Amino acid sequence: MIPCMSGPFKMLTILMQIPKGLLDCDARALHSILSGPTLIKLEGQRQEVLFISVLLHGNEVSGWEVLRRVLLTYQQRSLPRSLYLFIGNVSAAAEGRRCLPGQADYNRIWKADTDTAEHRLAGKVLRELEQQPLFAAIDIHNNSGMNPHYACINKLGSNFLHLARLFSRTVVYFIRPDEVMSLAMAAYCPSVTLECGQPGETTGITHAEEFVEACLHLSAFPEPALPDKEIDLFHTVATVKLKAGCLPGIAQSGVDFALLPDMDKLNFTELPAGSLFGWCEGSDLPLDAWNEQGEEIAAHYFVIHEGEIVTRTPVMPSMLSLDQEIIQQDCLCYLMERLSLCQAQRIYAD
Ligand SMILES: [Zn+2]
Repeated sequence: MIPCMSGPFKMLTILMQIPKGLLDCDARALHSILSGPTLIKLEGQRQEVLFISVLLHGNEVSGWEVLRRVLLTYQQRSLPRSLYLFIGNVSAAAEGRRCLPGQADYNRIWKADTDTAEHRLAGKVLRELEQQPLFAAIDIHNNSGMNPHYACINKLGSNFLHLARLFSRTVVYFIRPDEVMSLAMAAYCPSVTLECGQPGETTGITHAEEFVEACLHLSAFPEPALPDKEIDLFHTVATVKLKAGCLPGIAQSGVDFALLPDMDKLNFTELPAGSLFGWCEGSDLPLDAWNEQGEEIAAHYFVIHEGEIVTRTPVMPSMLSLDQEIIQQDCLCYLMERLSLCQAQRIYAD
């Protein structure tokens, strides 16, 4: 079957079992069995549902590889708890793309503030889920730069921290962007986004598979709060984007923003004020930095000095990538600050 690019948008398919042959397919081949975005509901011994979404970005294949591995081990025996799976952008996966031209980004459609076919799809998935008792929600992603494996949460409740810590001691809390799956699911149950390194890397797949197995077997989250020494918690305080119309390039002249050639090595590195962050021509910053309140505060973080863009305050970037399509479609990076559990409790209480 040839994936349908220009035909009618495929609305949600709901299945109660794994279609024959599905587990033989890699992400690119899923379209030969699935007609589009699909929710698969599998019953297990414990009723409270573990929800897992994969391929919201069609090129981030590790999540599907994790599901294949997990489901293959349960072919002859029952699941320890009910498992609902959402396989997202099947048509983009067929082409190995994050999303296809004309599609909304599947991880920016989970807030009911826009009316596109993809937003209606997201609404339908959420309505299916909210009728179920939910144990936890996991959205599995890859990223393109050099990043450690880490978990993101959008609420600082104790169960969210426990769930995230089960995957990694590096945990990122953010509330912008606010249209992501994990933030929508946080209204119903503890919810995380996993970042499992680069697409298809075995270590990331194995790591997430072990996490999913642990969640399937976990009966409840531990009562005692995590001690501070158990977790490295970071708060995303700004999203850095290229200004509209600005062209990026890697260490080259004639572009609006020249990245450092190995810029992605700065991910999860605490940079002191005065660190080089790229080059530009002219006196206008080619970057915007948006804080949680939606205010533009690039001048708080960056200054231009003789063609060099230099940091003004201590910051730690994440998600820096040299992939120019991602930089232009999504963002350049996020800026983070370290958060103690005491500070986290105060934010949660507010
Ligand atoms: Zn992603």
